[in-house]
Amino acid sequence: MNKVALITGSTSGIGLGIAEAFAKAGYNIMFHGLEADGDKIAKSVGDKYNVKVSFSNANLLVADEVETLIDQAIKVFGTLHVLVNNAGIQYVSPVEDFPNNKYESIIAINMNATFYASKKAWNFMKDQKFGRIINVSSVHGLRASEFKTAYVTAKHGVIGMTKVLALEGAPYNITCNAICPGYVKTPLVEGQIKDQAKAHNMSVEEVVEKVMLKKQAVKQFVPLETIADMALLLAKDTSSTITGTSFALDGGWSAQ
Ligand code: NAD
Repeated sequence: MNKVALITGSTSGIGLGIAEAFAKAGYNIMFHGLEADGDKIAKSVGDKYNVKVSFSNANLLVADEVETLIDQAIKVFGTLHVLVNNAGIQYVSPVEDFPNNKYESIIAINMNATFYASKKAWNFMKDQKFGRIINVSSVHGLRASEFKTAYVTAKHGVIGMTKVLALEGAPYNITCNAICPGYVKTPLVEGQIKDQAKAHNMSVEEVVEKVMLKKQAVKQFVPLETIADMALLLAKDTSSTITGTSFALDGGWSAQ
């Protein structure tokens, strides 16, 4: 029987990279995201790798919708082995101007949805004595940067949550780990590059080198494949003792 992976925010960027890698490895995939063509993206990956897929556009700002997403996955596939809490948003502003509603939605999507999804999947994973929860945090879960109050707070919070779930999951073969990427070239970051270029009055190339990748020792965006490979490793049966840990895939940023 194929294993089942649910990846939030998997119709774009990192989530889509992870979903494709899991499909290639033979997992059936519960796709999720707000992209308008999400169902088509899901179908094309399913057709390409000959695996079963489903799609949801649940709004992670709403706790009930997060719970329905988990229920839908278990109903459609009959099981759920891997939950990747990946969806996230960003907003950059000095603290004194940071809009409260932006702060609240970053905390809700980047952190609270991870709690609601993991909590809802918990009893199912506990009963089947297998669960792999993988939280996509960030190097900003380990290090701060100015103007990112909400994001850095949420991503640090996710790392704390990861440790607690690892402890509680240990008797039931539920592991929980965090992946902490440096910069990955996705729509989320493309937007930041454009904003930064405008703010600093620089070319896109200059922004990438002098601003975005300044803190990474390796001056390259982190490839999607690197993150997907890490997630695949964490999902394996043989990874039952890897738990409660944060993996920095950040080109050496947090080594400093
Ligand atoms: P992205 O913008 O390409 O994708 C984000 C996904 O989240 C999309 O599918 C979007 O529809 C979904 N999403 C956003 N708001 C939602 C909501 N309210 N309800 C449901 N779905 C929603 O972003 P990405 O760069 O692939 O980021 C994925 C994750 O990786 C995020 O948690 C991000 O913080 C983290 N991350 C990204 C980078 C990077 O450099 N790109 C670095 C470190 C961590």
